[in-house]
Amino acid sequence: MIAAIAIGVMKNTFLTAAAISIAVSSLMIAVPLAADGHVEAGASSTLADVADEALESDTYAWDFVEGVTTEVGPRQAGTEAEARGRVWAMQWLRDHGFANVADEPFEMETWVPGDTHRAEITSPFPQPLIIQPLGGSASTGPDGITAEVVMFENVDALRAAPEGSLEGKIAYISHSMTPTQDGSQYGFAGPARWVGAGIAKQKGAVATVIKSVGTDYHRNPHVGGTTFRNRDGSTDVGRPVPTPAGALSLPDAANLERMFERADGRPIMMKLTLTPQDLGTTTSGNVVGEIVGRNPSLPPVLLACHLDSWWNAPGAFDDGAGCGIVAAAALNVQKTGQPLRTIRVLFAGAEEVGLFGSTAYSQAHIDEPIGVGLESDFGADRVWRFESNFREGNPDLHARLASAVARFGVANSSIVARGGADINIVRDQGGAIIDLQQDGTRYFDLHHTPDDTLDKIDPVQLRQNVAVWTTIAGILANETTSIQTGGPIPSAPAIAGE
Ligand SMILES: [Zn+2]
Repeated sequence: MIAAIAIGVMKNTFLTAAAISIAVSSLMIAVPLAADGHVEAGASSTLADVADEALESDTYAWDFVEGVTTEVGPRQAGTEAEARGRVWAMQWLRDHGFANVADEPFEMETWVPGDTHRAEITSPFPQPLIIQPLGGSASTGPDGITAEVVMFENVDALRAAPEGSLEGKIAYISHSMTPTQDGSQYGFAGPARWVGAGIAKQKGAVATVIKSVGTDYHRNPHVGGTTFRNRDGSTDVGRPVPTPAGALSLPDAANLERMFERADGRPIMMKLTLTPQDLGTTTSGNVVGEIVGRNPSLPPVLLACHLDSWWNAPGAFDDGAGCGIVAAAALNVQKTGQPLRTIRVLFAGAEEVGLFGSTAYSQAHIDEPIGVGLESDFGADRVWRFESNFREGNPDLHARLASAVARFGVANSSIVARGGADINIVRDQGGAIIDLQQDGTRYFDLHHTPDDTLDKIDPVQLRQNVAVWTTIAGILANETTSIQTGGPIPSAPAIAGE
């Protein structure tokens, strides 16, 4: 930051480039440098100073997401790639001084996409379309299936179709998703993927194809899980039998819809070949690490993200960036001195395939009170709104937090925070939750696609995330009273004020 300001000033004078470079070199000698070259704050730095420094020059978050996308890449839950991701993440945490770094394993049923993913219109306009299977899809077998396609404008239109009306057909489900800052259209369009194939199967469909739930214009299908139901509507009694299900890229879906406009009553026939496989029970795990507080018996601050990604996505936005942001915040808080409370990072496993890591973590630790939980899992674009679920219960703390991040362009909100997918434990405990809402305008251009790569991350916006998270985590980790109520901490009243 110091060097950047100095350069800006000097550029307004008449110094040559050489003079600037000499001036910068001498400036940099005057301040202590960390091994990675950034300015290192002393233990006496204020939280505001450390956050300012993060805004200008944080390297932790970038280092994490650059490393995990380069050295690990796609890391689907329950696979060997996710296991390599855990090993990599634990090493990163240890290298950066986290304590109590561990892999907490759990078992899960693992589905993999297989090698063949083909959709082809055989008549009346023969041509290939780009498709990927949805998580949980059945296999068509290597020879594929050919059937007439029936189009539905959205999942509600599919719901209205008569029972049995799709017997022997392939259902195609569209939607009209647009980009939004808050990402809310995911909830509007998402059911096409989440439940469409299961509904179509109940009406007799032999397979389902959806328009990708996304907002880009690339020929990249957006993958993700889909859920099948038993005849009685349950999802968890026995194993509901899936049908083949896939997502077309958005341009391919648009092409298919144009075919419907021109078919003139002729059936649109599709040959679909998808060869996913069930691997049975495999192991996933949650990676944890801690910046241990001065009073580790106080309920910790839990900062969460997820480590897994889909097989087709290197997982930079979703969610390598989130893990980088939370780890960076914990490390930056430590620059102000050892925090009162422990800051624990939770890099959850198996989020994409059904929040299995979040569930396992809650089951394993439900009796250990968490002081407050936050998650970063919406890319790397700037934080624009602060929400908590203790605005009524602890108005003083809510106001202090909101005020502290206002200078980063983060608005206060009366919306009650519900927390991200990986902090089930805090919801299960009825605990304090904060949501730091990120700009999601371009999130669904990239979500669950091969385009979720490092180059999409804007380092300036990534650092804004780190500055905001550092500020919030630093305040929370030094709270002497209950974050939820502002009163004494029930589990450790005698030592809360140490
Ligand atoms: Zn995610």
